[in-house]
Amino acid sequence: MPQLSSKLALCSLPVALLAVGSAFGQQDFSAITIKTNKLTDNLYYLDGVGGNAGGNVGVLIGDDGVLMIDDQFAPLSEKLQAAIKALSNKPIRMLINTHVHGDHTGGNENFGKLGVDIIAHDNVRVRLAKPATGNPAAAVALPIVTYGDKMSLHLNGETITIGKLPPAHTDGDSYIHFAKADVIHAGDVFRTTGYPGVDGGNGGTVKGTIAALQAIVEMAGPNTKILPATASFRRATMWRGFAITRSKRSAV
Ligand SMILES: [Zn+2]
Repeated sequence: MPQLSSKLALCSLPVALLAVGSAFGQQDFSAITIKTNKLTDNLYYLDGVGGNAGGNVGVLIGDDGVLMIDDQFAPLSEKLQAAIKALSNKPIRMLINTHVHGDHTGGNENFGKLGVDIIAHDNVRVRLAKPATGNPAAAVALPIVTYGDKMSLHLNGETITIGKLPPAHTDGDSYIHFAKADVIHAGDVFRTTGYPGVDGGNGGTVKGTIAALQAIVEMAGPNTKILPATASFRRATMWRGFAITRSKRSAV
């Protein structure tokens, strides 16, 4: 799909990321609709249809409020809010950024202004505040809670672990593990449509990618759903992807 290749290109090329503010300002986001996909009774992911919307968005709902994972591009914030509103009448309480890229953090300013607490690895805040090139993110768009190795949230009956992966896609990649739902959101570290994207400009490495995929495989059980940037797959798919990646690395 054209929008898929664009999405992956953005997450693979730091040069493209620098153009988020201008190039994507020219994109027509009006044609994009948000599709809601159910994983469990209270865990969903949203993806954009009809254009390059950015990475998918995890949504945990319940009496304690809504937890989001990633927020696509800024022009889509209202559409994301509407899709979430259709799932829950509770306020959006927290937002986790899986990594720094603009197709996963583009809505931070909008959601930050709503009072949503943004959570990410330490390096995501540093890179958003002081990017190697391009404009720094607004203060309200920065994660207000950051972590170094691992942290836990206890929300809506779930135990949610947010953990640092080795420097793979970037040096601020998080996995998010939902213990009850048995779901791991792997952000852009895991993709099913091609080889992993390594953004060296943001600290990503091939060696770290192999280690990160290994870590995700090892924390997954036989029925764990592992959510990549574009779909939900079970552990077997993850294993195949990892095996291909490792064999490719061995051949280099
Ligand atoms: Zn990315």
